[in-house]
Amino acid sequence: MFHVELKLISKINCPLCQSSKCSVFLETKDYFFSGKPFDIHECNDCGFLFTNPRPIDDALQDYYKSEKYLSHTDSNDSIFSILYRSVKQYTLRKKLNIIKRFVRSGSLLDIGCGTGDFMALAKEKHWIVRGVEQNENARMLAQKKNLEILSSVDQLDSVNERYDVITLWHVLEHLPDLHSTMKIISQKIKEDGILLIALPNHNSWDARHYEKYWAAYDLPRHLYHFNRKTITALLSSYGFELKSTFPMIFDAFYVSILSEQYRGNKLAFPIGALKGLWSNSQAWKSKEYSSLIFVFQRNS
Ligand SMILES: [Zn+2]
Repeated sequence: MFHVELKLISKINCPLCQSSKCSVFLETKDYFFSGKPFDIHECNDCGFLFTNPRPIDDALQDYYKSEKYLSHTDSNDSIFSILYRSVKQYTLRKKLNIIKRFVRSGSLLDIGCGTGDFMALAKEKHWIVRGVEQNENARMLAQKKNLEILSSVDQLDSVNERYDVITLWHVLEHLPDLHSTMKIISQKIKEDGILLIALPNHNSWDARHYEKYWAAYDLPRHLYHFNRKTITALLSSYGFELKSTFPMIFDAFYVSILSEQYRGNKLAFPIGALKGLWSNSQAWKSKEYSSLIFVFQRNS
C-alpha cells in the first residue's frame, strides 16, 4: 500500500445544480492505489453522483502516481497491459470512425490527451490536432510524438483557434473545475462543431453488480459519476444537445476484470471476462453499456 497524505476539502455542494442537500450513495475506497476510504454522495435535488468530500486540487495529483496508471505511461509489460494496448489500437480507430460520421475533416482538440496516441492517429489521417495534458510525464511522451500539447485548458485562452471537434476520452470525470472547463469548451468549439465525451456509466449492469467494488468509480480520481440523464443536463446548461451515443464494449471486460481483482478473486481474469460479456449482452437491449461515448452539438 502506498502512503498518500489525506488532504480533503470540506463537503461540497452538488457540482451540477449547486444544491446543498445530498446523502451518501455508496461508501467505498481507493482500491487502485492508496486504499483510503471515500464516499459517493447523491444530490437529493437532481440525482447527480459525486465524490464527496474529495482531496484538495494539489493533493489530487498524488493519487495518479502509480506505474499502473496506464494512460500516463507507454511502458508496462504485464499481460494485462499488452492486451490493453492492442485493444486500445482498435478503439482509437473506432473513435475516429465515429467522428467521421459527423465531420469529415478539420481541426481537433483532445482534452486530456494522455500520451497522445489518439492525436497521433488523427494527425496521420490528416486532422489538424492540438492536445491538452496536465500530467507532465504523459505530456513529455506525447511531445516526443511531434504533437503540440498544452499543459492546461486555461492556456487555450491565448491560442486564437476554434475547433471542429473537441474530444474528452474518459477525462471529464477527473477535472476538479468542471465548469471552467465547460466554459472554455463552449468558447473553443465552432458553431457547428461536435463534442465527444466518453464516460463510465453507473447505470450499467457491471456497475450495479459490483457496487462498491466497481472499478470505474475509481475514487478519488473520478470526482463525478455520470449517467445519460446527468451528462445531458450538464451539457444542456451550456447550450448543447445530445445527438447520439455509442457503446465502448471493451470497457465492460476491462472494468469487470479489475473489479474482480478488487473483490480478491484469484480467477479475476476468466470470471471478469465472462461478466463483461454478460454486461454487454444486457446492454444490447437496455443500451446501458459499461462506458458510453456521448456526441453533443450546440442547439440549433
Ligand atoms: Zn444536484
